[in-house]
Amino acid sequence: MSEKRTELNDLGEFGLIERVEKQFPVQNSTSAKGIGDDAAMISIGSEYLLVTTDMLLEGIHFDLAYMPLQHLGYKAVVANVSDIAAMNGKPEQITIGLGISNRFSLEAIDTLYAGIKAACEDYKVDLVGGDTSSSKSGLIISITALGRVDKGKETLRSNAKNNDIICVTGDLGAAYLGLQVLEREKQEFLINPEMQPDLEKYEYLVGRQLKPDARMDIVHELADRKVVPTAMIDISDGLASELLHISKSSGVGIKIFEDKVPIDSLTYETAIEFMIDPITCALNGGEDYELLFTIDPKDYEKLKNHPDIHFIGHIHSDPTQNVLVTKQETLEPLKAQGWNHLSNF
Ligand code: ADP
Ligand code: MG
Repeated sequence: MSEKRTELNDLGEFGLIERVEKQFPVQNSTSAKGIGDDAAMISIGSEYLLVTTDMLLEGIHFDLAYMPLQHLGYKAVVANVSDIAAMNGKPEQITIGLGISNRFSLEAIDTLYAGIKAACEDYKVDLVGGDTSSSKSGLIISITALGRVDKGKETLRSNAKNNDIICVTGDLGAAYLGLQVLEREKQEFLINPEMQPDLEKYEYLVGRQLKPDARMDIVHELADRKVVPTAMIDISDGLASELLHISKSSGVGIKIFEDKVPIDSLTYETAIEFMIDPITCALNGGEDYELLFTIDPKDYEKLKNHPDIHFIGHIHSDPTQNVLVTKQETLEPLKAQGWNHLSNF
């Protein structure tokens, strides 16, 4: 008798998570938001405690050939802080689960923790615990971050409304191109180890890949301007993928305009050099850790002069119509082609 076997690839990362979500309805009234947003929300008095976990695996999420351990430590914290920021929250604590193979020396782990410490100082979070194990498959870092947000100020993926304005911070696609540059240098180094990498020209892109920022500055500025976005998500998998999360969670449609999507000039030029359409990098390149949010049109005045917030489109009522209006004024369906780590199974 043959047992049924379903390939995880058929389901994909998001399909798998959705399946788990359905199987685990929450049982406690304090579990205000379970699976399905950037962080879970636990009800405590007038606040929500926010909880989020992100795991980085060697060979899947990073390559130590070009990812210095110090940067890796920093980035692992940033990825978690960014998910707390996406809930409009303030991060306060992290715990770290570490799997270490015998390839690593004490000095190497010290370097990793130096990066973690730098991020803890920059984002004012405390490392309060974790777990340590040996690993047979390289380095594994799993970080859980805890944060807080006042009730009423939380920004779920599920609350975008018809006519809301879609906003993104910073610029997009740079981290993806930074990775392409690093990969190219690695290949060239493998062929000719004498060669000195010439990364200076690409400094901004490589920096966005190796030392990203979490946009806590934006969380504070939104509060200063008394704006609570209707929905918010951080861009870890790519703009298109995150927009589709908002569409699905909120039951609304997305319309964005290609000429409004912020792309840095070096990102643009380097995309052309790699023969990739720059908008593809912005839509599908991951790891920018910018914030994507929607606002009620009445809040537009409060944000319109902000130098680092870009208004890229609006929400409409039909969740089946998620489109990009190209520079040629044609409509293209938004598709998620972001990282899907299960494809590495
Ligand atoms: P993000 O990109 O913001 O980190 P993810 O796509 O990793 O978000 O996760 C989406 C949601 O699924 C989150 O609520 C997360 O906690 C949950 N999740 C992810 N993996 C699992 C898992 N293995 N079991 C239960 N929940 C999970
Ligand atoms: Mg997120």
